[in-house]
Amino acid sequence: MPDGLVDREAEQLGDLDSYEGTLGGLTRREFINYCAGVAAFLGLPSAMGVKIAEAASAAARRPSVIWLSGSACTGCTETLLRTNHPSLDTLILEQISLEYCETLSVGSGHQAENWKKKAMQENHGKYLMVLDGAVSTKDNGIYAKVAGQTVLEMVQEVAAGAAAVVSIGSCGSWGGWPSTGVNPTGCKGLPEVLKGKPVVTIPGCPPNPYNFLSTVLHFVTFGKLPELDDKGRPKFAYGRLIHENCERRPHFDAGRFAMEFGDYGHRQGYCLYKLGCKGPETYANCPSIGFNDVGQGTWPVGTGHPCFGCTEQGVGFSKPIHELASLKSVAPPNSYPDVRSEKGNGASPGAVAAVAGITGAAIGAGAVIASRLGKQDKADESPQSTGKTGA
Ligand code: SF4
Ligand code: SF4
Repeated sequence: MPDGLVDREAEQLGDLDSYEGTLGGLTRREFINYCAGVAAFLGLPSAMGVKIAEAASAAARRPSVIWLSGSACTGCTETLLRTNHPSLDTLILEQISLEYCETLSVGSGHQAENWKKKAMQENHGKYLMVLDGAVSTKDNGIYAKVAGQTVLEMVQEVAAGAAAVVSIGSCGSWGGWPSTGVNPTGCKGLPEVLKGKPVVTIPGCPPNPYNFLSTVLHFVTFGKLPELDDKGRPKFAYGRLIHENCERRPHFDAGRFAMEFGDYGHRQGYCLYKLGCKGPETYANCPSIGFNDVGQGTWPVGTGHPCFGCTEQGVGFSKPIHELASLKSVAPPNSYPDVRSEKGNGASPGAVAAVAGITGAAIGAGAVIASRLGKQDKADESPQSTGKTGA
């Protein structure tokens, strides 16, 4: 963001010194920059960054959060704690009032359980409930208990008094890996268990922590949750297919595919569709925001591994990696390169031109594809397209 814009927004905030000390060492500029980034992330005008900063710094509006855990690997909580842009643990611990969290609470046993009950009574109808992990439901949920209470009973009790319910991670969202295969403990996602109560889902294995934080900041700022899709996922984060924003997409459109790990196409960064990438049927913003605060390119496909569709029920943990993804939003289908052919990875210029005209307009990448077309002759002479794949 240009400094001028930051300064103008900073002026609107008045006494910015009040942010010092409330944000665990973040400078005013860093904080406003961060909030402007969150506004952009949510698809809001940059000026809304000021409103988010105001709301997030108003201690009186800090929402109480009761964070429960079901059947999971604790990766969701771990990913939340390993961000530093800014330090998410600092921000989240200071922007919300975290009343109960089995992984992070200092207290334990009766002390922690009594505090949870007190927080539920004092903040009835106002607190945010968060769940990571699936809910074990078989035999009335006896296979997962905390403090003598099944997780099944616990989520129903806590959700009853919550202003909003968020399930973070694929396990909490739709069952995730605990629910795959024979599923001996009858694990389910929270939306299946809390019938009739809206549940915001932030799927991912692990989920991107900024999708969670932005959802919470939206709630803090506007007193309501962001727009959701039919699976309860915030549209700002799960509104587009991975395939639409993938940096390897021009290779897909031009018919250039890695055929084996380590072959010429894989080393050249070609599309991973034929290695089982589920990006064409998976909704998430992984290519846009990346992981580990390193920036774009730092995500599974960026580092050479096919997306396995962890945010998508029925794809992640369900569809084998060797099974090809279903192609969504492709029209007309016969205009695509022949991705099922084992021979001749290069598409004909005519087929690529049709794809450029149709899908290029749809994804706003016509210029990229057009430049690819200009290089088609050279691409046709590459080792892969001449059969010298190095595999
Ligand atoms: Fe990217 Fe996968 Fe789509 Fe290829 S199939 S463009 S690697 S998301
Ligand atoms: Fe999940 Fe695919 Fe994103 Fe990896 S790239 S985190 S498998 S949605």
